[in-house]
Parts: sequence; structure tokens; C-alpha cells
Amino acid sequence: MRVVVIGAGVIGLSTALCIHERFHPAQPLHLKVYADRFTPFTTSDVAAGLWQPYLSDSSNPQEAEWGQQTFDYLLSHIHSQDAEKMGLSLISGYNLFQHEVPDPSWRNTVLGFRRLTPREMDIFPEYSYGWFNTSLSLEGKRYLPWLTERLTERGVKLFHRKVESFEEVARGGADVIINCTGVWAGALQTDTLLQPGRGQIIQVEAPWMKHFILTHDSSLGIYNSPYIIPGSKTVTLGGVFQLGNWNELNSVHDHNSIWRRCCQLEPTLKRAGVLDACKIMARLTRSVGGSAGLAATTVVVGMVTWRESLVTPGQWLLAIVNARIVGELTGFRPVRPQVRLEREKLHFGSSSAEVIHNYGHGGYGVTVHWGCAMEAANLFGKILEEKKLSRMPPSHL
Ligand SMILES: Cc1cc2nc3c(=O)[nH]c(=O)nc-3n(C[C@H](O)[C@H](O)[C@H](O)COP(=O)(O)OP(=O)(O)OC[C@H]3O[C@@H](n4cnc5c(N)ncnc54)[C@H](O)[C@@H]3O)c2cc1C
Repeated sequence: MRVVVIGAGVIGLSTALCIHERFHPAQPLHLKVYADRFTPFTTSDVAAGLWQPYLSDSSNPQEAEWGQQTFDYLLSHIHSQDAEKMGLSLISGYNLFQHEVPDPSWRNTVLGFRRLTPREMDIFPEYSYGWFNTSLSLEGKRYLPWLTERLTERGVKLFHRKVESFEEVARGGADVIINCTGVWAGALQTDTLLQPGRGQIIQVEAPWMKHFILTHDSSLGIYNSPYIIPGSKTVTLGGVFQLGNWNELNSVHDHNSIWRRCCQLEPTLKRAGVLDACKIMARLTRSVGGSAGLAATTVVVGMVTWRESLVTPGQWLLAIVNARIVGELTGFRPVRPQVRLEREKLHFGSSSAEVIHNYGHGGYGVTVHWGCAMEAANLFGKILEEKKLSRMPPSHL
């Protein structure tokens, strides 16, 4: 059976792995992955990777199940030797609101869900209500290479290739095509329900940040208010969700707004700038001053005293402004009222191909990916059964 998965984000790679693990070698599969972007250049690499569904339930109750299955699957790996390589860890943190809201349907999926006490609310004076829970973090930059390794050791081949049509892949000999093209699915088949939900994030070095902090403002819509999500090496700052915006360039306006609002939420981020600037200054003065020791920086209780250096005050200021940021990324959430996870038989003249669509995971693709991969594998199993039945000799009874 020849299978082509289009897409190498978290959805494509996990679906390819799930299908291969479940059916091969009992049913020999010749599985290939085609994609025009691989890690670290996919949307899945932009995601902070926090397991958290939207607060309001999707109209498809299966999505809650896929989220639960993904959580359970990941939790079962938390103490495995692979957890670190997968980029998987437990993480606790806060969801903050301006007013009281109902508990989310996933309150029993995460660990230790509870409402914040008045003392805890004092930490966040701009908010009046909140939750605390422990969840999971799965970092795309580690998880995608890990999935790729698992696939490669199973003999799956990955090709850098832009697919122009399903017909092209079907005519190339694929019996089943798995469509995991994320926000770009509309280029292969019109989908008026699919649109980009542009996001932009700033990555900073702030190792003292141990908890995620997500704020919610119902007047601005999901993820349009500040959030802070610590990862293994950097901390992600965000809070942009722009429907219909295809601009892949980082916007200065969004940058300033994310930075300002996150610093308001977590004022220690500003100090991060000064402390990191200090390190940079030390480096600059060392490289410029050399052994003559013409420059010196002194750090006193987290404050910087700039005494004498070969860098200009302008460079010094620039260091303060820029030092804290180690990355900035833009990506498009594949926004759809529901995930599209279904079978479709496509006919091209005399030939045909089975397609399994698995895209449209919005801002929660990491959160539901494994449940979706298992559902795609179920659909694949049905195709296998039907193909076997159609090959059986007719009954003489
Ligand atoms: C700023 C931001 C933060 C986020 N944070 C989180 C989070 O914390 N938790 C969470 O659960 N989710 C989060 N998300 C959402 C999550 O990133 C997405 O839901 C998920 O990455 C979608 O995965 P995907 O594999 O469908 O898409 P992608 O990662 O975009 O992969 C699509 C793949 O399809 C390929 N492709 C498309 N068209 C073609 C073609 N014609 N030919 C060949 N290849 C093609 C691409 O090259 C790529 O390999 C976030 C998203 C953003 C933007």
C-alpha cells in the first residue's frame, strides 16, 4: 500500500508515525512524507507547545476527546527516557480573567485544577479571577526532530517538495493521501471555512520564569491578550491572534504591543533586559578593551554601573533595549470552526485516490495532535478493510 502524507508539521509527522506504528509491517506500507517546509520552519515550530484547548468548547465534541487522548498519551511518556528529547515536560501556571467565568470542560484533564485564592489574585492586580493547574509543554523545536527520527528509523522517507494538486500525487501512484497541510490546505482544495489566525511571539531569556501566565479578555478574543509561557531554554511572550492576516513578517507594532503588555503583566521581564545588557556589555568591553583593560563594567545587586568603556552610550542603550530578546517569530494558526478530519474519495478521470484530511487545528494543534493522529489511523484502517473486502472472491452462498 502506497501512502503519501503531505505536511511535516506536528500533525503530518505524528499522523505518519501513528499510522506506521499501528499497521506496518502486518500490512506493508510504503509511506512517504512530502512537505515544502520542515522543522524549524513550520507553524508547529512557532507554537510554545502548551497543552491547553480553547476555553469555549468546539461544536465537535470529538475535539475534547482528542485533547484528552493527547494529554494521556503525553503524560504516559513524562517519565520515559525520551521525554527530554521529545521536548516534553510538566508545567504549572495561571489563567487570568477580568471577571468570574465558568470552569473549562478540560478541568479534569489537566492536573490539580483549582480557582485562585484572593492572596494569589494579589499577585496580578489587574485581574480579578483566575485558575491554577498543571499541564504539559511539548516544544515543537524538539518534538518535530524526534518524530522525524522515529519515522526515519522505520524506513519512512521525507521529501522536500511542494505539492500542486492531489491529482499529481495520485497519478504518482499513491493509494492513500493524508492531507496535513495546515493553514495552506485551501491551495489544494477550496475551503471557505479555513483562514489564518496570525500570531507573533517574542522569545526571551528569563530562566526565573517557571509558570505560564495566560490572560483572557473576552472583548479582544482568544490569545489577543498577553501570555507568557516558559520553555526549556527560552520564554515565549505572545498575545496576537489576527484573523485573515497573511503577513509572515514580524511587525514592529505587534512587537511593541506584546512587549509592553507582557512587561505590565510580569514587570521582572524589564529587569531581564538590564541584566542581559550587563552580560552583553561585559562581552563588548572585553572584546573591545582587550588585555589593556580599558573598559570595565560593574554589577552591584542586579544594577549596572557603567563606568568606563569603549562603547558609546548609544550602543549601551541599544544593548539594554535589545539584549533580552533571543528570537521573534510569526506563524499562522490554521483556524476553522472545527478540525477537518474525514475521508474523501477523489476521482481524476479513470483513476481515483482516497484522501484523509487532517487540518484546521487553530491555536490548539499541539494540544490535540495525537488524538487526531489516532483518529486518522482509524480512518486509514477502514480504507484497508474496504480494500481487502473488495479483493475477496465473491461468496457462492
Ligand atoms: C503564535 C502561535 C502559538 C501557538 N501556540 C500553541 C500552543 O501553545 N499550543 C498548541 O496546542 N498550539 C499552539 N499553536 C497552534 C499550532 O501551532 C498549530 O495548530 C499547529 O502547528 C498546526 O500544525 P500543522 O501540522 O497542521 O501545521 P504546520 O505546522 O503549518 O505544518 C503544515 C505542513 O504542511 C506543509 N504544506 C502545506 N501545503 C503544502 C503543499 N502544497 N505541498 C507540500 N507541503 C505543504 C508545510 O510545508 C508544513 O510542513 C500556536 C500557533 C501559533 C501561530
